[in-house]
Amino acid sequence: MTAKRLLLLGPPGAGKGTQAANLIKLLGIPQISTGDMLREAVASGTPLGLSAKAQMDAGQLVSDEIVIGIARDRLLKDDAKRGFILDGFPRTVVQAEALDELLEQSGVSLELCVSLTVDEEELVERLLKRAEIEGRSDDNEETIRTRMSEYRAKTEPLTRYYDKKGTLREVNGLGLVHEVADRVEKAIGGRP
Ligand code: ADP
Repeated sequence: MTAKRLLLLGPPGAGKGTQAANLIKLLGIPQISTGDMLREAVASGTPLGLSAKAQMDAGQLVSDEIVIGIARDRLLKDDAKRGFILDGFPRTVVQAEALDELLEQSGVSLELCVSLTVDEEELVERLLKRAEIEGRSDDNEETIRTRMSEYRAKTEPLTRYYDKKGTLREVNGLGLVHEVADRVEKAIGGRP
């Protein structure tokens, strides 16, 4: 059976967004990206966006409270009932516990955490390239380093969290996009 309640985990630049785009086509379920939702809030100047902007621009994590709130609202929408691909949430153990609790209230659980692994030098190179193309305000070298260290300190422990539950699948994120996509498909149990 193909898993349909999924988390894509990995450092900034690991290709979570790219792989999520492939999976939404394959599985017909929504991608839920807290990074995208936060950028939208910043762009439309909502109070939530205003309070998150400084942390995002500095490469630091936005508070658990804010992020858990937006993820919860999104997960409760109808289209997430058939499944979802979480991209960039949870990013701390506190967020992971909140997610488990939230799903439990709906009588479901996260089926798999697919962790994309890529070495740091490759990541920085990818992110600097993305900075040129997309002009994201947090894709400069100093902020990238901060995002990496935030990842190692606060997000990487999630691999142990999901490994203990037996739901972790590590996937090599190096190679062509379609090669990585094939590995991800295998990790989630193949095509539906
Ligand atoms: P990346 O490409 O670095 O993985 P994202 O687009 O997922 O970036 O997120 C961009 C920024 O948004 C993060 O650096 C952080 O400030 C904020 N953010 C996104 N998701 C979360 C989260 N789950 N918890 C805390 N902060 C978050």
